[in-house]
Amino acid sequence: MNSVRHSRFTDNGSAPPIRVSFEFFPPKTAEMETTLWEAIARLAPLQPTFVSVTYGAGGSTRERTHATVKRIIAETMLTPAAHLTCVAATRAEIDAVIEAYAQAGVRHIVALRGDPIGGIGERFAPHPGGYRNGADLVSGIKRIADIEVSVSAYPEKHPDSADVTADIDMLKAKVDAGATRAITQFFFENSLYFRYLERVRKSGIDIPIVPGILPVQNFTQTKNFAARTGASVPAWLARRFDGLDNDPTTRKLIAAAVAAEQVLDLVDQGVTDFHFYTMNRPELVYAICHLLGLRPGGAQAPRAPFSPAIEQA
Ligand SMILES: Cc1cc2nc3c(=O)[nH]c(=O)nc-3n(C[C@H](O)[C@H](O)[C@H](O)COP(=O)(O)OP(=O)(O)OC[C@H]3O[C@@H](n4cnc5c(N)ncnc54)[C@H](O)[C@@H]3O)c2cc1C
Repeated sequence: MNSVRHSRFTDNGSAPPIRVSFEFFPPKTAEMETTLWEAIARLAPLQPTFVSVTYGAGGSTRERTHATVKRIIAETMLTPAAHLTCVAATRAEIDAVIEAYAQAGVRHIVALRGDPIGGIGERFAPHPGGYRNGADLVSGIKRIADIEVSVSAYPEKHPDSADVTADIDMLKAKVDAGATRAITQFFFENSLYFRYLERVRKSGIDIPIVPGILPVQNFTQTKNFAARTGASVPAWLARRFDGLDNDPTTRKLIAAAVAAEQVLDLVDQGVTDFHFYTMNRPELVYAICHLLGLRPGGAQAPRAPFSPAIEQA
């Protein structure tokens, strides 16, 4: 562990800047649309590298994802990234979505295999005539348009993978197909991320592996998410939220403290890029970004120089 608390030195401009991206999901109702746009309006002044919009399981939000991404292009200065999965669609159908994005001015896609229609736990069967997995989809996108492609990465391995090696082989295939950034599944123990990063680098993958940060807005929901995605929830985290079911004020403060501890430790260990799973709720994410030195208008409280323990993720 690097003993210098780089995250505390914000008065010297020679260190690399912190860069963030924010993930949103497309709204189902008019009320959720208002919530989403309030969240975007709150976070936009922090000038994220990009904002991504998820693609519902089985392609269920195809139109809503597209509409949200188009509105971001039309009404903001933000760079959108559209998530896209291979599930329940032929190559021709997916290709048409990619072409429509390219025509709408989308220059960044987060390419995913997606979960089986019956949910995680069911065996994934590619659509006959569809893309087979994340790597296959990355190739398809690159064949159609000059679009930046980000992909997923799993510090605790994907539940379908036999082992971490199989998982890293898949990441390598996605990079070979043209992916230039990986965003991780959320995790709560930073050591898991650094252990994974070390293995990824040893296997010759040199793209940024951006940690995906999930602020715990709702502990029960987080536990359910984690169970489905293969992410572990440490006992200490459960203890921190223990007994707070009927105490939303304290819960919020604990959530902020937990997320702050995690991201500041990552900064102390040399991480400069973060992807936030916002759940369309901006407050906690805004506060963490403020703590990271980000300010509206792109101004950043400058940081002290440091030598990352591990070369920037
Ligand atoms: C940053 C991020 C964003 C996401 N956004 C979305 C979204 O918008 N919409 C959505 O529906 N989901 C999303 N997901 C979830 C993702 O779709 C699921 O985790 C899905 O199960 C795997 O997709 P992938 O692209 O990671 O798969 P891949 O990278 O193709 O594969 C993941 C792992 O599973 C293994 N694997 C793949 N296929 C098989 C197989 N048939 N048999 C055995 N092992 C196999 C591979 O070895 C690989 O290691 C996201 C995940 C992350 C991390």
